[in-house]
Amino acid sequence: MVHSLLQAVVTYVSLLWFVRVIDAMPDPAQRQLLMRQEASRQTGGRVTLTPAEQRIDAYLHQLKEQEMRAAPFPPAVHFFKAKHLIEKSSIFKLLQKMPKGAALHIHKSTLVSVDWLVTNATYRPNCYICFTWDNSVRFFFSDRQPFPRWDCFYWQLLETLRAKIGDPTGFDKSLMQHLTLFTEDPEGEYPNQDIVWEKFEKAFIAAAGLITHTPVLRDYFYRGLEELQHDNIMYLELRSGLSKTYELDGTIHDKAWTLNIFQEVIKKFKADHPDFLGARIIISVNRALGVSEVKDAVKEAIQLQKNFPDVVAGFDMVGREDSGRTLWYFREALSLPADLGVTLPYFFHAGETDDEGTDVDQNILDALLFNTTRIGHGYALAHHPLAKEISRKRNVAVELCPISNQVLKLVSDLRNHPAAVLMSEGHPLVISSDDPSMFGTTGLSYDFYEAFVGIGGLKTNLGTLKELAANSIKYSSLPAHLKETGLALWQKQWDAFISSNQ
Ligand SMILES: [Zn+2]
Repeated sequence: MVHSLLQAVVTYVSLLWFVRVIDAMPDPAQRQLLMRQEASRQTGGRVTLTPAEQRIDAYLHQLKEQEMRAAPFPPAVHFFKAKHLIEKSSIFKLLQKMPKGAALHIHKSTLVSVDWLVTNATYRPNCYICFTWDNSVRFFFSDRQPFPRWDCFYWQLLETLRAKIGDPTGFDKSLMQHLTLFTEDPEGEYPNQDIVWEKFEKAFIAAAGLITHTPVLRDYFYRGLEELQHDNIMYLELRSGLSKTYELDGTIHDKAWTLNIFQEVIKKFKADHPDFLGARIIISVNRALGVSEVKDAVKEAIQLQKNFPDVVAGFDMVGREDSGRTLWYFREALSLPADLGVTLPYFFHAGETDDEGTDVDQNILDALLFNTTRIGHGYALAHHPLAKEISRKRNVAVELCPISNQVLKLVSDLRNHPAAVLMSEGHPLVISSDDPSMFGTTGLSYDFYEAFVGIGGLKTNLGTLKELAANSIKYSSLPAHLKETGLALWQKQWDAFISSNQ
């Protein structure tokens, strides 16, 4: 009551002040003050920079002015065409060196670059390939000729096929094309959301036979952590459906086995790289499933989290929101943990849509009603004032994945991304890359570039970057003591980054 009275008085006084200023030439000092006040609200707006940080900030500002004047301006261009421009940018080179904290929104099947998948995984012995009727591929490792499976009747040993083909480099390139969306002509190949999602889903299926082979999964995951570490990222939360893995002789392992593999690889990677904080898994299921299947998945996730408390962070529903089922449709399944009196943290994808007012658009509020810990994408959040307020008050961070939103055709010019609103208000935000191998990226630097230069424009500064990086630890699923360790480790890396760039 006292608070709202005070607020009313403040509003009245400010109104009076505005009435006064429109009568005369605005006072430049007041104008400056308002500009500073507004800037202080943005992400990183209240971060105090040290003199050394201020020097880098001034340099970044100057670079940004130059890049914004240049044509074409990379964030205004489709990422597939802007990638080589971004790679030449001095801002990007600095972002690559910057300790970025954690990657909190990446899917397992797209963690590792397709170059590695093709040049490493498909060159292993006993790798079979099959070309499907709908112009896709399947891979399968087997110690004997595989039986028909996955729409495939004719499996060929890749080693034999490669020996017959005169141009192995060209052939490998064509294999890579099946595993990524990356292309020179994105507008021509992907004229609408349906077509780009169709190719996207096909590529996931194509990669599955490689990644679910146990020895490949082990190396794949290790390689994924290496790619992140190389981009100065120290922690990962990976969405994974925990597909069953298989051996050469056809033995199939269950989900607990897959979690064991993750656990072992994380342990080994941390031992090899003491500056790496670790990784956790967000178990995800596809929103195309039915309620009873999702109920089973939720029950299973509860059990797996109990058995692997250090590795399993929680649960999510994945797949295209616009054509999939809504969170509300699954309300019975998603209420199960509460009904059973147990906790299963949710990390829902929600609001990855530009269809305002639809049932899908409602996922944003429903994610919050189901007490989500973070919101994946939250592209629609800026249009939901109440949901935005709740998310802010409860510190439910939005996982912003700019390149994904552009490639999957929610926005074309990233300067128009609705997260510009969230950023200018200092909404809890983290930056992530969603499906790096699909978009031809590794790590987070490309997405940081788009967020910092395109979405943030000239307003955002080194304070913004610092807060975004720190946010990634702060809003992670790590327990409080590990967040503290993580933040201290990140601060150490940050200080070294600042002093090495003077
Ligand atoms: Zn995602």
